Amino acid sequence: MNGLEIPVEAPGQVSGASALVVAMDGPSGTGKSSVSRRLATRLNARYLDTGAMYRVATLRVLRAGIELTDTAAIGAAVKELPLTIGTDPGQEVIALDGADVSEEIRGDAVTKAVSAVSAVPEVRELLVALQREIATAAQRIVVEGRDIGTVVLTDADAKIYLTASAEARAQRRNQQNIREGRGDDYEAVLADVQRRDNLDSTRKVSPLRPAVDAVLVDTSEMNMDEVIDDLYRVVRQQVSASRMGGAQ
Ligand code: C5P
Repeated sequence: MNGLEIPVEAPGQVSGASALVVAMDGPSGTGKSSVSRRLATRLNARYLDTGAMYRVATLRVLRAGIELTDTAAIGAAVKELPLTIGTDPGQEVIALDGADVSEEIRGDAVTKAVSAVSAVPEVRELLVALQREIATAAQRIVVEGRDIGTVVLTDADAKIYLTASAEARAQRRNQQNIREGRGDDYEAVLADVQRRDNLDSTRKVSPLRPAVDAVLVDTSEMNMDEVIDDLYRVVRQQVSASRMGGAQ
């Protein structure tokens, strides 16, 4: 080995070195973030959490005291967003104005306001451009969000749409809240899941929906290991199909 060797990839093989873009979409509570991180690690790829970016934009809007109905002010507030986001699947780095906000963006205030802020076209325009830049620079990356396969990275090598019933998703989120000391209120969590689904799928700009060429994976009845195995298989199939000219 002289270090200059270029790995030759057989169809269907997902080697650790070539470019590979995986678009991972779906509603909240499907286990999408943990699954995407673990899949990225298994694929030896970077990882981008686009939801965290919308959350940082929302935090900035809230800190500026802007009304969520004032879309012009929201657009202006995010024009220059001093956002830092890492792409290491093993370590979350997310900062606003150079200060770590990884906890604050998961809090109640941001979670309640994020759908409204992310529906503002200027916010999406800015963040989508940034997401494309990050994916291009990384080359080998799992990008997680709501509109990655439909809008942000339509040429992705693999597109996955994770789903699960609203009840299964609320159950998981509530368990996570309990574990992280944010209380136990299944009914409230279910109502929030349904409210956000509704807002995200009915908004005018980039509504949440599967890309026509995405593979749907329902995680309601699967544990994490089963989901990862299934996704790895799906990625291999999609990559081999697209590298053989779309033939299955
Ligand atoms: O994934 P997470 O729950 O952190 O995303 C928070 C919110 O950000 C979503 O409910 C959605 O409103 C918005 N979002 C989006 N487009 C993305 C990722 C997230 O609109 N690509």
